[in-house]
Amino acid sequence: MKILAYIPDEDWVEQVLGAAKAFEGEITALILNKELAEAAAKKFDKVYLANVETFELNMIREVIRTVLDGYRPDVFLAPSTNKGRAVAGTFMGLTDAAGISDVINIELNGESMVLERLVYGGTAKARLRMHPPLSICISPGYFKLESFEDRAGEIVEIRISIDGVETEFKPKEVSENDPTKADVVVAAGRGIKDEKDMEMIKELAKALGGAWSVTRPLAADYGWADSWIGISGIVVSPKIYIAVGISGQPHHMMGARNSKIIISINKDPNAPIFEETDYGVVGDLYKVIPKILEKLRGG
Ligand SMILES: Cc1cc2nc3c(=O)[nH]c(=O)nc-3n(C[C@H](O)[C@H](O)[C@H](O)COP(=O)(O)OP(=O)(O)OC[C@H]3O[C@@H](n4cnc5c(N)ncnc54)[C@H](O)[C@@H]3O)c2cc1C
Repeated sequence: MKILAYIPDEDWVEQVLGAAKAFEGEITALILNKELAEAAAKKFDKVYLANVETFELNMIREVIRTVLDGYRPDVFLAPSTNKGRAVAGTFMGLTDAAGISDVINIELNGESMVLERLVYGGTAKARLRMHPPLSICISPGYFKLESFEDRAGEIVEIRISIDGVETEFKPKEVSENDPTKADVVVAAGRGIKDEKDMEMIKELAKALGGAWSVTRPLAADYGWADSWIGISGIVVSPKIYIAVGISGQPHHMMGARNSKIIISINKDPNAPIFEETDYGVVGDLYKVIPKILEKLRGG
């Protein structure tokens, strides 16, 4: 089977390869960044490197169209992120591939494959039998690469003409805050009443040498963060997870349950989060967090 995988950054190289391992066959990467293409080349049979410096779907459509002129993959793989889904959708628009997102497991079964995704707020798994051509978006954190033989991938440059394509320049934001890799994650929920109060969450994360994140409403509705933890967001698995003003709905906890120790601060003693909590503080976060920070500052 021929696989074409969109790799947006280094973090996705191993996850996408972990997913691609379910298929026996040729794995080709589609990469928009020269350094990443060079680093990834030995993991893939071939790397298409496109001269698209900013994420612009009109240009990415041209890139995929050019790739498809000489190469017809059976499966297109992409991360289940906003950008990954947009690229996968673009691939579907140019082919007759069916699409599926938020995939957490792939099994090859003869000519077809069985794809798993979480349903009913993460309380059940659906197993879907599908046939190529397919566009598959994989959830972050589910696919790992345990062993993989290096390949001698050639880099094929794709140069598209950008004449007539309207582009908008947005510098890439560099963030050192990576909750998926941190040993300690401090996550804020709707108990936080104002964006400026996120500063104390960030300060607590920093003082503990960890990273911070939020529940979906704080990111998707209020725009206080770029990502959130949960079934439709990122999955974290730190040693310590501190939930501040989070009720503990299943949609959120799906992304936090892999944590070794869960600590919660919530003013409602009946908040569902306490059912999954190792150490709980029933109290007002606006009193509890400043006290913890004071202690950490040596007060
Ligand atoms: C299809 C779908 C997918 C979703 N995916 C996700 C997802 O991936 N991730 C996600 O997070 N959500 C997701 N959601 C939303 C999810 O269902 C919940 O609505 C959300 O997680 C609730 O966020 P919260 O805990 O911040 O807010 P709330 O549920 O409103 O809880 C706020 C908590 O803060 C406490 N609190 C308030 N003030 C204080 C204070 N001063 N001190 C201490 N505690 C206080 C309250 O007692 C309450 O328990 C999804 C929803 C849908 C429908």
